Amino acid sequence: MTEEGAKSTAEMQVNPTRAKQLVEAFSSVTSRINAASRGKNVRLVAVSKLKPATDILALYNNPTSHLHFGENYLQELSEKASLLPPSIKWHFIGALQTNKCSPLAQIPNLHLVSSVDSIKKADALNKGRTQLISTSKTDEEKAEVGKLNVHVQINTSSEESKSGVEPSEAAELCRHIRDDCPSLHLAGVMTIGALARSQASTAEVENEDFIKLRDTRDQIAEALGVTKEELELSMGMSEDFESAVTMGSDEVRVGSTIFGERPPRKEAKVVEGSG
Ligand SMILES: *Cc1c(COP(=O)(O)O)cnc(C)c1O
Repeated sequence: MTEEGAKSTAEMQVNPTRAKQLVEAFSSVTSRINAASRGKNVRLVAVSKLKPATDILALYNNPTSHLHFGENYLQELSEKASLLPPSIKWHFIGALQTNKCSPLAQIPNLHLVSSVDSIKKADALNKGRTQLISTSKTDEEKAEVGKLNVHVQINTSSEESKSGVEPSEAAELCRHIRDDCPSLHLAGVMTIGALARSQASTAEVENEDFIKLRDTRDQIAEALGVTKEELELSMGMSEDFESAVTMGSDEVRVGSTIFGERPPRKEAKVVEGSG
């Protein structure tokens, strides 16, 4: 931890009532995941975008000791990463812009970027990560920084407005990451999916986006000559994480069910009570 980071974490006051509320909501989500997963290990990314750093600290602390948090905006993630403990594993899940890929990849405890949808962005992330690794001084530091995990985001609902590659183009992008981006590790695939499809699914009718992501993952695995298990599925959010887990998701990204409704972006503050 940098001295600056240590100092600011110590100065941050977590409101005990708020902390209790967050721990309860978080624990309820983890029990629901465990009930749906029947013993399989599923990663929970607590989506903390637009929420203050103290909310994250409350879940990082005992008794939950959570490490995986998801953010959507580079500026906000950078601020939080410099304020909060370096053992946090950050996930970038928002829409990626090519010009922001290199600074993003240089955040040392950025664990995974879930929204890679073009060769250009993969190359920019790879370049940034390569630079970070090369400026690490000792071998120990180099090993600690390591490769940056990425998911390829798939547009499973074919909506014009959604980012993500078309399923038919996904294997090519995955192959590029594996073969031509030595500082990246292809961890799997991700989808957001259409809200309407999420709402239309029931216990009997499976979510079409989740089926599409699973099928696309299977095709990519075959094209790349790897096992399905080597490519994880990131699908499921507040409204549909249990059905996603039932359908084989390895990672769910849950925000509002844990943290409550988000404020408008212009009103969001990393440090409460500031400017
Ligand atoms: C905001 C966001 C989430 C979390 O959404 P909730 O509905 O609040 O759980 C998950 N995934 C992505 C990509 C997001 O942008």
